[in-house]
This record gives sequence, structure tokens and C-alpha cells, in this order.
Amino acid sequence: MHRDPDADALGSSLGWASYLIKKGHDVTVISPTDYTANLRWLDGIDHVLVYERSSDQGKCKKKIELADLICCLDFSALSRLKDLGKVVQEAAAIKLMIDHHLEPEHFAKWMIWDTNAAATAQLVYALIKEIEGDLPTREIFDIPLAESLYAGIMTDTGSFRHANVTPDVHLAVADLMLTGFDSSRVHRLIYDNAPLSRLQFLGYVLSQKLTVLPEFRTSYMVLTEAELQKFNSSTGETEGIVNYGLQVENVVMSAMFIERKGEVKISFRSVGSFSVRDLASSHFNGGGHKNASGGRSEQSVNETVAYFLSVLPQYQQALLSVD
Ligand code: 5GP
Ligand code: MN
Repeated sequence: MHRDPDADALGSSLGWASYLIKKGHDVTVISPTDYTANLRWLDGIDHVLVYERSSDQGKCKKKIELADLICCLDFSALSRLKDLGKVVQEAAAIKLMIDHHLEPEHFAKWMIWDTNAAATAQLVYALIKEIEGDLPTREIFDIPLAESLYAGIMTDTGSFRHANVTPDVHLAVADLMLTGFDSSRVHRLIYDNAPLSRLQFLGYVLSQKLTVLPEFRTSYMVLTEAELQKFNSSTGETEGIVNYGLQVENVVMSAMFIERKGEVKISFRSVGSFSVRDLASSHFNGGGHKNASGGRSEQSVNETVAYFLSVLPQYQQALLSVD
């Protein structure tokens, strides 16, 4: 899975792993970096190796070197693996990509790649159905597997409200829910499970750091390393905050700039026809989806924001014409 894994990266990987294990395979799940605390309940997570942990690094390398098959879930560019990308690239194993991001690199021999899928977890669901026939047994589609895939679909669709929600998404979810798990509990575990400090941090960001540019229908937030340290914020504590920028009336693009470890990580969100992927890939060494993308910059945070503001006029027409 990709670095800083979200519920789709982890949920689809753990779900796919659980299926392969049930079919008798020897499977190891590896994440390049650590994951946020609200995902620790996912079934099988205790066995996930984290490459950036020094205690796991050797084991990860060995597993990857000796693997017959490397399944790459929820990413389609090796750079999304951070330092692990090189290890995967050099591995002899056949690579299988399962992903829904745009413009994949062609590093995998086999690709299950569909940008119309709302989540990688949806692709894993469809793949298992295809292999098992229409009615997989409850031994295969058990509650932990269904919960993992549901978590990925729920989060990548913004709890079923983004433009990527199709009838197929609801049909897949309905089928998963027939296993009988408590979907409301999954929602609570992921979204209503934050340390108080995260909510206080969110309050600070929304009250002090949110700038709205009505002429561009854009809002943005800038967070410096010092502010993050003050709120003792780990990677996860900024996750999702960019979405709040879209709640402002008339705003169709939201950006968030986070200064961290000598670089600026940028998150973009948009609605409708405006593609933040184009913006991220043209100006910020990034990419992603049309309405949710990211990038990074090695300039200072002030220079990065100034650059962002300087390119906005090029997009004004497109921003103003969003329905
Ligand atoms: P987030 O803002 O949540 O970090 O990222 C949103 C989406 O943008 C991710 O799901 C991923 O598809 C994409 N993304 C984020 N950062 C990068 C990046 O540095 N490069 C590319 N190609 N895509 C990114
Ligand atoms: Mn995904």
C-alpha cells in the first residue's frame, strides 16, 4: 500500500490478504509508513509490517526479495512507496497492481486498474466475486473481510457523498453488509474516535488559518512546522481537515499547505468539473484524482503559497464555471 495509508489503502490490502490467506497462501502486508490510530481496529493490522520502523525494515526487505507475487494496492506510482519503492522495483517477483488512481506507471505485469471505481476496496470486492462466482461463501466473505472493504469504500467516497458514488458502489456495500457487521460502528471507529487535541487543533485551524478568496471560489489553509509542534500533531491529525474548506458557500476548491520535515505537503480538494489533479501535476509535483489530489514542494512554505496564488488566475475561468 502507499505511504501514509488511509482506510482504503489499509482496508483493501488487509481484505485482499485475508482472502489470499483463506486460499492457503503465505501473505505479508507491508506499509511504507505508520498509520493513524483510528485504523488500529482493522482485522489483521497487528501483523502489518511498517518499513520505516527499524525493527521491521529487514523483514520487509527479505519478504519482498523472496516473494513470488507482489500485490500493489491503492497506488500506481512507485514514488508513493517512499524508500520502499526502490526495493519493490528491484524485486524479481511478478507485480500485480490493484488501483483506481489516474495515469498509472507501468511497473506491474498485471494491472487491475479502473479509475471508475470509487475505492481500491471496491476493486478487491469485485475481484473476489469474479474469482469465487456470484455467491462466495460466508467463510470467505466473513465479517472482518467485509468490514475492511467497507471501511475503504466508506472513506474514499466521503461517507457516500462524493461524485464517485455509483449504483455499483451501493450494490457492493449492500452485499458486504449482508454479512451482518455493524456499519455504524465502523463509521464511529474511524470518524468519531479522535483525541480531544485533534478537535481543538481543528478549531484553531478553522478559526485562525482558513482564508477564503471569493474571486477564485477557493479557500486555503497554511500550517507551519511550529504550529504543528505546538499542537503536538502527528501526520494523522491534519488528515481530512482540507475537506472543511469546501464547506464554505460558493467555494469549489480547497487547498492545505503543511510544512513538515523540510518540505511542504499540499492537499487539494475540489468539486464538480474543476480538476485539482491537473493543478497538482502541473505545478506541485503531484497528482491523484480529479477532485482529490496532492503534491509537494521543496520551497519554503511562504514561497509555495505565493506560487499557488500566482497561478490561480490561470484557473479563474474554470473555477468560476463550476456548477
Ligand atoms: P491527500 O490530500 O489525502 O494526501 O491526498 C489525496 C489524494 O491525492 C491521494 O489519494 C493521492 O491519490 C493523491 N496524492 C497525494 N499526494 C500525492 C503526491 O505527492 N503525488 C501524487 N501523484 N498523488 C498524490
Ligand atoms: Mn483509494
